[in-house]
Formats: sequence, structure tokens, C-alpha cells
Amino acid sequence: MYDKLLHMDLDTNIIGLPGNSSVSFIAFADDVALIVTGLTTETLEEMTNEAQPELIINDIRVTPKEKLKYLGIELCKKLGYGTHIRGAVVKAGRTASALERILPNVRGARQDKRKILATTVPNQLLYGAPIWADALQFENNVKMILGPQRKIALRIAMAYRTVSTSAVMVVAGTIPVHLMARERQKKYRQIQMLTGHGCFGYYLNKYKIRTSAECVDCHMPVDNVEHTDFECDRWWQERRSLEAIVDCDIGPDSIIGAMLKSRENWRAVKEFVGKILGIKEEEERQTQRGSLA
Ligand SMILES: [Zn+2]
Repeated sequence: MYDKLLHMDLDTNIIGLPGNSSVSFIAFADDVALIVTGLTTETLEEMTNEAQPELIINDIRVTPKEKLKYLGIELCKKLGYGTHIRGAVVKAGRTASALERILPNVRGARQDKRKILATTVPNQLLYGAPIWADALQFENNVKMILGPQRKIALRIAMAYRTVSTSAVMVVAGTIPVHLMARERQKKYRQIQMLTGHGCFGYYLNKYKIRTSAECVDCHMPVDNVEHTDFECDRWWQERRSLEAIVDCDIGPDSIIGAMLKSRENWRAVKEFVGKILGIKEEEERQTQRGSLA
């Protein structure tokens, strides 16, 4: 069945201009997603035919839903991650309750053993965190996600329920989960820098999200990871500040060596990449929202 699906003629670029629209399948293991893109609302409507699109494959009608789960991440119709966070909190809450039952405050396992068992809770909460960490700018999401972690931190610290969340996290020696999510997001950007798979003109053009690979800041014809990190004029101040810390000129051949010289250098490169890619991602999001409005 998969072979048939993946070889279907999806009649892409229906208005005949390359890059304006596309329809494609993305498949991984037993998950299949049909991706429809268009730079304008009109194109998208044309691609999906109706405001409430219906897809019929082999006479089987696939109707749209309010939310979907793809590779373990729940996406709602508004393209927000609140639904996913709520689901992760419920799941991790169940784990925390089960652990509570085997870890009484009086007697029972030592603190180091409690700590090992407790790691399951933040791990469940943080699945796919680099993708949805931006949703933690909303206070209610942070509060929600801290709930199960607080529950289990009370058992690590063997503390009363009246102790504040910040205090119990310190005594239990656990990093608040919303900070861990941010940290994972920074690591994710380091990976984008090393692989070139990120918010770069070249990459966005390759996947038909943009019509051109050029740099929107300095209009050089190709915006790729080398251009963004080492050449683009927009980021010269950030680059000079980084070079002052790592004490060498940075380029494709020297950046890895500089990162590995010291912890401080590693952190500085991480901050540099995180800042630039964070700004680029946010600007791209704004542009896409603008073109879909
Ligand atoms: Zn540029």
C-alpha cells in the first residue's frame, strides 16, 4: 500500500509556477503525512479545492480532524502546541502518580535511587521539545509542564506538599523542565548549524517553502549555513563578538576546533548559533503568517 501511495501522481504546482505550491507525501515507518503548501491563501485553497478539504484514496474518505499526531507530536488545527503539551502533562502525571506510590516519603528508596526513577517524568514531558519549546513563552504552559515534575521532585526531596516549586527543585537537585526544554532547543540549533538543515534560504527553497534561495538580508544568491554563519553582513557584530571570545577567525574549517578548545568557547558558539537561527526562524514564521493572512 505504501509503495502505491508514495508513487501517486500528486499533480504539483497546479498553477504552473515552480515553487508556488506543492503537494507531497512524507513517510516514516508507519506514519504518512500529506503536505500541501502554498505561498498564498488562494493557492492553498486551490490546492485543497475547498475550505474543508476531503481526501479520497481508493474510495476511502479521509475527513479532516481538529488535531493529529505525527511522530509522537500532537498538532492542533491552529498549528499550536498547547494540545501536545497538555497530552504530555497527562501522560507524565500518570507516571509521577505511579512512582509516588512506590516512593513513600517515610522510609523506602534512597535519594539517589529516587532521582534515577524520577528521570522518566521529564523525559516524557520533553519528547520533541526542540519543536515546541517556543510555546513555553506562555506562562500557563510553563505552569502546566512543571506540575508532574513538582510532584516527583517532592518525592525525591521527601518534602511536604507545602514547599514551593522552586525550593523543592533545588533540594531535589533537578533542573526545571521548561529550562531543560530551552536547552534542548539550543542543542537542536547547533545540529542545524552542523547539518545545514534549518531556516536557510537554500534549504527553504529546496523544500518549496520559498521561491528563491537568496539571502533576504543581503541578497546574495545563496543563503546556506556557511553564508549565514561566516559571510552575511547582517551578523557581523555577533561574529566579531564570538571571535573575540574564541580568539581566532571563525570559518567552516576553524569553528569546530574552536568549539572543542574550551567549555567557554563551546558555550559562545552555542549562543551565537542559537541567537542567529532563533531570529531567522522567528522572521520566517512572521513572513509565512503574513503571506497566509
Ligand atoms: Zn546574507
